[in-house]
Amino acid sequence: MPDGEFSNGEWSDRYPHDTHTAFVAACSCGWHGTPEHPPTDAGEEAAYDEWQRDHLNPMVRAEASRHTIPANVLLPFLNSLRNAATSDADGTLSDHSRGVFSTIDAVEELLDQLASEGRRSSRVGR
Ligand SMILES: [Zn+2]
Repeated sequence: MPDGEFSNGEWSDRYPHDTHTAFVAACSCGWHGTPEHPPTDAGEEAAYDEWQRDHLNPMVRAEASRHTIPANVLLPFLNSLRNAATSDADGTLSDHSRGVFSTIDAVEELLDQLASEGRRSSRVGR
């Protein structure tokens, strides 16, 4: 805002658009970025991208890293997906079932990869 106040994205109701001097990324929790972006659509988009990149994504990554799906939950889940995938009477898989199997294969490859990385890093740690 021209007076240097942050308006937390609700300014459009209270201030005419042409009084804006810049967009600054801000969040309802009080976080705000430092760079000023031009008072244009591109500037608004740049401020949004900054908020997503520098505030939202790090919070999501930090939260996600606190959670683990144990293998004794994930593997039965993959098996239930596999069992639910059906084939037609002549034994051919539907497109949906092919997609399900493809996804299961990709998750299992990821698990194998993570397991071998875990073994490597525990060897390095000794
Ligand atoms: Zn926030």
